[in-house]
Amino acid sequence: MTVFNPHNTKFPPPHLNITKLLVADDGANKTGFETRAKAKAERQRRVKMLRKHGSREAIAVANRIGGCNPSSPCLSPACPVCMGRTRIWLFEQMATIWPIDSPSTLNNLKAVTLIHEDWRVPAGKLHTISAKQMIDQLRQQLRRAGAGFTTVIAAIHGDFDDDNNFWRLHFHLIVDGLTPDAEKTLRNKHYKRTSMIYRPIKVQAIRNPVSQYSYIMKSYWPQKNRYWDNSGSVRNRGSRIREPCHSEYLSWLNDIGLTDQLFFMGLRRRGNELRLTALSS
Ligand SMILES: [Zn+2]
Repeated sequence: MTVFNPHNTKFPPPHLNITKLLVADDGANKTGFETRAKAKAERQRRVKMLRKHGSREAIAVANRIGGCNPSSPCLSPACPVCMGRTRIWLFEQMATIWPIDSPSTLNNLKAVTLIHEDWRVPAGKLHTISAKQMIDQLRQQLRRAGAGFTTVIAAIHGDFDDDNNFWRLHFHLIVDGLTPDAEKTLRNKHYKRTSMIYRPIKVQAIRNPVSQYSYIMKSYWPQKNRYWDNSGSVRNRGSRIREPCHSEYLSWLNDIGLTDQLFFMGLRRRGNELRLTALSS
């Protein structure tokens, strides 16, 4: 099978183009879509940090993403430009399968976040977990929970819990046809609260398909630090992941392909297109 190259896909028409539908992220609008200029600046910053880190692996990632250019794209998930282009493609596919202007479609969808205890690994040990293993596990859990006939588009994301010094990998999913029973089984059997994972499952209705679809795949992993606000509630502050963990996650991403972080159920990728393989019941 040929390697997926998002730069070779046709640029989506305006009504399926996430960069037009989401307000450009100019720094003031944090929920917007990152502009190409911002993605390039972020890539330069990563290259600099990776070189400074200096391990053989980090230098290899820096060379690869640093050498990325339009005539020879690097296709590394550590590259914000290649990831951004993949996100543009993915949104187009999602909005084709689940039109954002169709209330009857959106009513059947849920935005789900799943954080499994098995996907929590200490700093320095990210290499002990593989994207493939996570994907296989998620598929099995969904089947066992009676959600084997749903249609799912999901992607792996990670954050770094700096207070406890571990990685917390997770999936963001859009699920078509999740029944209340299946949701309950996922909650009670596979995604129970633990002392370290406070909110292992989050299920939301689709209120804003543009931002919820685009939320599935992200090119930036944050560091999370807990703090107490003025009213005494616990909050999370996000920031750039500190070294050596910053280089660790970029190396992890660099070892997989752009589409290896994606999870599909009830559909598959045929070349540059996602196609339904079964009707959800
Ligand atoms: Zn690239």
